[in-house]
Amino acid sequence: MAQIGFYPGSFDPLTLGHMDIIARAARLVDRLVIAIGQHHGKKPLFAIDDRIDMLKSEAAPLSRKHGIEIDILTFDTLSVDAARAAGANLIIRGLRSSGDFEYEVRMAGMNAQMAGDIETVFLAASPQTSHITATLVRQIASMGGDATPFVPASVAKRLRERFGR
Ligand code: ADP
Repeated sequence: MAQIGFYPGSFDPLTLGHMDIIARAARLVDRLVIAIGQHHGKKPLFAIDDRIDMLKSEAAPLSRKHGIEIDILTFDTLSVDAARAAGANLIIRGLRSSGDFEYEVRMAGMNAQMAGDIETVFLAASPQTSHITATLVRQIASMGGDATPFVPASVAKRLRERFGR
């Protein structure tokens, strides 16, 4: 059976932590769907189209390297419903901390009850990137800091353009 992974997140912006999970997931699945959740009422830093572009350009080399299809899409439904609609049997999540763990295990448990055919797979964050969060990247960039150590170069460029550095 083909393993199809669904990796949901906000990706606002895409960080090296996300890239670590995407690169490692690409070695485990036959097809990877990266899904940008749209939360109405939450004003994002980057518009959906910008986030799609960031993910597309950074995922393309991994898709070639691993010989798998990596699709980028958006969703505004429950993630289990979006995963099923995308034909996925695995939901991929990254675990950074005990805080992530508490929340993620609850969510995986509830998702398992709603969709017993979809398994959540956790990848432990790599030590080099486990401290990175998109929220802090947004704060650093908006206060004039340099986000280069935390995001792909193309995203750092977009942040500089956005905040005029
Ligand atoms: P953030 O929590 O940084 O705002 P998202 O909501 O887009 O980012 O997170 C989507 C998924 O990526 C979640 O499973 C989250 O745990 C994972 N993730 C985010 N940052 C990292 C990181 N530095 N290392 C590993 N996983 C991460």
